[in-house]
Amino acid sequence: MRSPAELTQAFRQTGLKVTPQRQLLFRLLHGNTSHPSADVLFALASEAMPGISLRTVYQTLNDLATMGELQSIDFGTGSARFDPNVTDHQHAVCNECGAVHDVHVSRAPKMSGLEGFDIHDAHIVYRGICADCAS
Ligand SMILES: [Zn+2]
Ligand SMILES: [Zn+2]
Repeated sequence: MRSPAELTQAFRQTGLKVTPQRQLLFRLLHGNTSHPSADVLFALASEAMPGISLRTVYQTLNDLATMGELQSIDFGTGSARFDPNVTDHQHAVCNECGAVHDVHVSRAPKMSGLEGFDIHDAHIVYRGICADCAS
């Protein structure tokens, strides 16, 4: 995801409105590695800017996803999670607290069963108990 200033420009170029509420969401999402849900973002945004609507949060997330600035991933934790990191990476999900961590695989694992299969993308989700919950 690009910086809040760059996004403001990109939104305007696309003809999308840029409000202080949207700029707040850009700031909350930029560099965010916690993979927040829309509800979590809404709570954070409401603290900084009381009166912001959940609809604005959803619309902004939707616009950012359409522009390829973030990805929406359903880990089966109840609600979709949003990741401003759109570079290729995998995830580890805690079954206990729902925390989502970024996982970087440095070497492609040996695989079978994909012969002749034209792969467009791959996403591996590791599930288990995170270090915080395990201790
Ligand atoms: Zn956990
Ligand atoms: Zn991620």
